[in-house]
Amino acid sequence: VWDNCLSFIKDNITPQAYKTWFEPIKAVKLTDNALSIQVPSKFFYEWLEEHYVKLLKVALNKVLGENAKLVYVIKMENTYGNNQPFTERIPSANRSTMKSQEVDAPLKNKNPELKNPFVIPGIRNLQIESQLNPNYNFENFLEGDSNRLARSAGMAVANKPGGTSFNPLLIFGGVGLGKTHLAHAIGVQIKDKYPAKTVLYISAEKFTQQYIESVKKNNRNDFIHFYQVIDVLIVDDIQLLSGKAGTQDVFFHIFNHLHQNGKQVILTSDKAPVDMQDIEQRLLSRFKWGLSAELQHPSFETRIAIIKQKLYQDGVEMPEEIVEFLANNIKTNVRELEGAIISLIAHSSFNKKEITLDLAKKIVDNYVKHTKREVSIDYIQKIVSDYFQMDVETLQSKTRKRHIVQARQLAMFFAKKLTKASLASIGSQIGQRDHATVLHACKTVDNLASTDKQFRKYVEDLGKKLSV
Ligand code: ADP
Ligand code: MG
Repeated sequence: VWDNCLSFIKDNITPQAYKTWFEPIKAVKLTDNALSIQVPSKFFYEWLEEHYVKLLKVALNKVLGENAKLVYVIKMENTYGNNQPFTERIPSANRSTMKSQEVDAPLKNKNPELKNPFVIPGIRNLQIESQLNPNYNFENFLEGDSNRLARSAGMAVANKPGGTSFNPLLIFGGVGLGKTHLAHAIGVQIKDKYPAKTVLYISAEKFTQQYIESVKKNNRNDFIHFYQVIDVLIVDDIQLLSGKAGTQDVFFHIFNHLHQNGKQVILTSDKAPVDMQDIEQRLLSRFKWGLSAELQHPSFETRIAIIKQKLYQDGVEMPEEIVEFLANNIKTNVRELEGAIISLIAHSSFNKKEITLDLAKKIVDNYVKHTKREVSIDYIQKIVSDYFQMDVETLQSKTRKRHIVQARQLAMFFAKKLTKASLASIGSQIGQRDHATVLHACKTVDNLASTDKQFRKYVEDLGKKLSV
């Protein structure tokens, strides 16, 4: 169909114009009398609408008949130059099933100077692919104490986007606890209930890339406009905006525009707003306008339910004792829990072995860090002094040289954090200091970590090295 339209168009415009404006278009879908075409950008769409709308209408009516409809789909990846496929975990098969909205009216005859049978379309339709993963929905997001608030707030938002006081809705919590899943579920439900609404899911990382690209290509305004036409904007992992002043600034404007117009914003973050570093105050204060809901570690019962659902989905059976073993041993990350189940199933089917407790133990060992080895204060001093390339004696010495003092304070800080030793005992083990010195060190480290970037990096690096 599109090819027929194209050959008609080709005959009616200059080759140059054809090459520029029509060759890049891809036909993506034909249902009944509606043809969806994919255009590379919003700008492209606007240009077509402004300059070629009549021609398009004529061509379409000629090929598809009087009731022809045209639906534009804006190809987002290319709009702002990000050519990566948007999906990491979204199987490509789902992409084509992403729902498109069909709310356009039949083409109407509005242009008297064109004679029948050419009828002119009246309403055109702008589409943005929502990038939602239909596999992440409310039905398979199991409820438990750990997620009840966030889940029901999400439901409320999904049923009345922009119409609750949960705007923005900020979902926060640790890695693998279901933030992305819940964010998609809200979007999926909104598309279900309100197919005409433009919903967009985007990771903060991709948002940042698009923004940078738009600045490079000198179309920052296009970028902003693109986001301002959205009804429901879902930005995943906004903590990744930290330290990116330009992106924060543009996000601030988009946020304000959407919020003022009663549009819904849904955000996720791995930290509570109070703990977000390097995010502008004005943005943080916006984040707090609505509701911040935490996803916590799921309880034992919820973990069992999640495992069983996963097994059920994969059509696998597993002895109860192994289900419980998994639930007992992987507590803080649902993604790891799922990973363990998947490798368990894979191992047993590759090796044609039954799923046994022994196999489960081996696999869980790959997921759970061994915490048996107690971190000792000596060990901490060794790691810290290695990190700063000094020896333990230097670290313990009486010198007031700044970098040595800092190393010493860090050692005290981690000793307090990672061992059960008292302040006095930490003090005596790290160069004969009293408990007040240790307390002071802990406070100093806390302060510096929140004000000094370099120092925070020390804390993070050492934290990683010391987590056994
Ligand atoms: P996050 O974005 O917080 O790191 P994800 O949303 O990616 O976590 O979740 C990790 C995995 O755990 C996903 O496969 C998700 O489906 C699953 N998951 C998390 N919470 C639940 C839940 N309550 N019910 C079912 N599956 C869950
Ligand atoms: Mg996530």
